[in-house]
Amino acid sequence: MFDDADEETLAALLAWRDKPAKHQPAWPDKDELDRVVAYLRTLPPLVFAGESDKLKQEMAQASRGEAFVLMGGDCAETFADVRADRIRARIRTILQMAVVLTYGASVPVVKIGRMAGQFAKPRSNDIETRDGISLPSYMGDAVNGHEFTPEARIPDPERLISAYQHSVATLNLVRAFTTGGFADLTKVHEWNKGFMANPAYSQYEAMAGEIDRAMRFMRAAGVSHDSFRTVDLYCSHEALLLPYEEAMTRIDSRTGLPYNTSAHLVWIGERTRDLEGAHVELLSHVRNPIGVKLGPTTKPEEAIALIDKLNPEGEPGRLTFISRMGAGLVTEKLPALVEAVRADGRPVTWVTDPMHGNTITASNGLKTRRLGDILTEIKGFFTVHSELGTHPGGIHVELTGDDVTEILGGSEEIVEDTLTERYETLVDPRLNHQQSLEMAFLVAEELRHIEI
Ligand code: PEP
Ligand code: MN
Repeated sequence: MFDDADEETLAALLAWRDKPAKHQPAWPDKDELDRVVAYLRTLPPLVFAGESDKLKQEMAQASRGEAFVLMGGDCAETFADVRADRIRARIRTILQMAVVLTYGASVPVVKIGRMAGQFAKPRSNDIETRDGISLPSYMGDAVNGHEFTPEARIPDPERLISAYQHSVATLNLVRAFTTGGFADLTKVHEWNKGFMANPAYSQYEAMAGEIDRAMRFMRAAGVSHDSFRTVDLYCSHEALLLPYEEAMTRIDSRTGLPYNTSAHLVWIGERTRDLEGAHVELLSHVRNPIGVKLGPTTKPEEAIALIDKLNPEGEPGRLTFISRMGAGLVTEKLPALVEAVRADGRPVTWVTDPMHGNTITASNGLKTRRLGDILTEIKGFFTVHSELGTHPGGIHVELTGDDVTEILGGSEEIVEDTLTERYETLVDPRLNHQQSLEMAFLVAEELRHIEI
């Protein structure tokens, strides 16, 4: 284990094991878990340290207003959806949004998928009860099956290997699509024109026309080289299952430093960000750019203590705070955190997650969100940063490239009665393709009026 680590590094990488770890599955057979983890250690890394370093630099740019981050993807990826058509649709949606946001922000958009590893979920309740029967809650395909049977719901360590393999297959396709011509800027622009052909979106015609003119100008000016044909699409997920994340942590042969090689960026969720907890401990010792979700109960001194633990030296791009306050609370709760961080002086990239503070239950019992609330939280985030003179670094959203009906609202309006038409998510509701693009246009409108 970590053969190439010196003693001090080894102790640091294992220190999380002595700390309380929340939201870990009750694996029935610890020996089997150990065998799986030992096997995972032998498998190749998914990403290279140099790629994570490049992303770190780009996150640093976003902290200074020189770039804008778009993080997006499923709440929970599933093994069944590791299919070329689904992955292609998601990449396509992210790239289409990125073009619109680039125009609005006038700075490069850093594109990060919540994909190729987002297979584990913390749950509010460990147990789910249906008709008097209680079983372990579904914790994502990396842990157990969604089907409500005792067999499916028992955590199975073999699933961690499957999660690795599905991550590899996804990432391979991401790399092929983003370097093989699929991501060609002119092609992405044509797709956006297709979206605009729908009269439902005529309110965005003016901006779409401007983007079109900008494209034609660039072509006429002879700007058509490789940067038009390939893009960097980074991958990220919540670092929840600590044995898996530890197994994927490797010593970079170039620098001798530890990196989590399961994704370019990993984040710590709102439920596992305890300062003395195992998640913060493990990620404090890897060199990747990392994120921490901050909900409305976060105190300014907690934010500073997280910086002390996760980025004591103030390395630019290392730490991103992803606030998820809720539409009604963002302008009330976020300023004190931003002010404390600004006063501290060590750099943080601020990203808004306008999804997780805005989850509601529809009258038919389905978990949903209102697009209006999501946009209100984004606007609130921009307002807070503009008032404090700090930089809104980006957005983090749950989306899919398919025409699902999981979130209320949008110009092609989804209402409570139509939620059931195509409600496919196994955990949280996602923006569909059209809602994602619509959001990009609305956010781009906001961005053009502010200095990020
Ligand atoms: C998530 O991103 O799916 C999630 C569980 O978020 P949070 O940790 O902010 O609740
Ligand atoms: Mn979610």
